[in-house]
Amino acid sequence: MLELFKRKKKFWVNVDIPTKMFTVHTNCTYENKKSETDYKGINRIKRDGGWLNFSSIKEIESFYSENYETFFYKKHC
Ligand SMILES: [Zn+2]
Repeated sequence: MLELFKRKKKFWVNVDIPTKMFTVHTNCTYENKKSETDYKGINRIKRDGGWLNFSSIKEIESFYSENYETFFYKKHC
């Protein structure tokens, strides 16, 4: 149960505004390298975008079509 709880929001999306890329990460260590910078936020969008946390692909897809439909949707892993 505890493990389930911890893993609840396991998907990360890298929204990159300069390159118009919407990259989905479901299972990799690359996401561990993410960090908050002046232009990129964690769980918030800054000038150049940010990393957003989601609990399902369905949630990601509706967020994408509602907000970033013009971006290139890429599934990293
Ligand atoms: Zn990945």
